[in-house]
Amino acid sequence: MIPVNEPLFISNEKEYLNRCVDSGWISSEGPFIKEFEENFSAYIGKKYGIAVSSGTAALEVAIGAIGLKPGDEVIMPSFTIMSCALAVVNYGGIPVFVDSEPETWNPNTDKIEEKITEKTKAIMPVHIYGHPCDMDTVLRIAEKYNLKIIEDAAETHGAEYKGKKCGSFGHISCFSFYANKIVTTGEGGMLLTDNEEYAERARTLRNLGFIKEKRFYHKEFARNYRMTNLQAAVGVAQLKNIDKLVEIKIDNAKKYTERLKDIKELQLPMEKEWAKNVYWMYGIVLDESTGFNAEEFAKKLAEEEIAARPFFYPLHLQPVLKETNIKPRGEYPIAERIAEQGLYLPSGLGLKDWQIDKVCEAVKKILEKTC
Ligand SMILES: *Cc1c(COP(=O)(O)O)cnc(C)c1O
Repeated sequence: MIPVNEPLFISNEKEYLNRCVDSGWISSEGPFIKEFEENFSAYIGKKYGIAVSSGTAALEVAIGAIGLKPGDEVIMPSFTIMSCALAVVNYGGIPVFVDSEPETWNPNTDKIEEKITEKTKAIMPVHIYGHPCDMDTVLRIAEKYNLKIIEDAAETHGAEYKGKKCGSFGHISCFSFYANKIVTTGEGGMLLTDNEEYAERARTLRNLGFIKEKRFYHKEFARNYRMTNLQAAVGVAQLKNIDKLVEIKIDNAKKYTERLKDIKELQLPMEKEWAKNVYWMYGIVLDESTGFNAEEFAKKLAEEEIAARPFFYPLHLQPVLKETNIKPRGEYPIAERIAEQGLYLPSGLGLKDWQIDKVCEAVKKILEKTC
């Protein structure tokens, strides 16, 4: 089976892990945490980095750090991972969804303004599958209505909007280092911010609500979302190699596109003129004329020993939200279509040329193409 994803360890991961074991520093108190926070925040271009146990935790801590209150609304795409809605719901807030943009699959920023109410507190732009969102529009609307931006850059390590890194725009930006992300720590995440107050709040919220001044003295309930030194050790090693990791993703995408570009029934990933796409996942959207939806097509690929995965299931259709008072406001035809027809092909960092060839041959065979 060609895996849909696999990590690549070609840096000092083992050496740094050994250092943790040899020194006994394995918890979040270890020295790699600070090094990882400093190196990653410097790479993206933010002042403070706060490492946490996952990307989901990063989003939740970010929502806590801006002081979201019950009933407050946060605008986000429907086409994203559940973590985005969960972060808001956990603070009693209401996720308000916007539809997607058909070319890049990113949130359609032209749809944000019409969703703003007196309750709106923040916008959560999510960069999808490696391609940056249209950030100028997000920044303009946030400024006009005095909203906070929580940028979800989990899928865009190294991607750029108009020459600036994804994750450098938000009041707080959030990253995941899950095993399938470009830089990985197995499980892990980080918040970045230039705001000292948010940084301090985030350090408290990731750590049971401990405050600096007085240990074991709590003014609020907060969870344990700390990252371990073992994870940070892997992160520091991975980060040394980030340019190479990004290059591999871009290179693999080029190879896919070269082989698939003549198939009219497939929509392939693209790159806006203002964007640097890092092609975290190589997604394709099948035209309805193929007679396949994503799930059926993924099954066909599995028969050829190829693992592919259908796109996100839109948040506005999630059964769990139907049981709450969170009602979708509007129509989401693009999110629904790409969720039905979209899937991503094997996109791991260890992908070989012969595997890309095999995947493309299988795609053509299933579509009965000879080109
Ligand atoms: C992976 C991902 C997350 C969640 O990260 P975890 O580390 O798996 O909790 C959040 N947002 C987006 C867009 C992601 O792709």
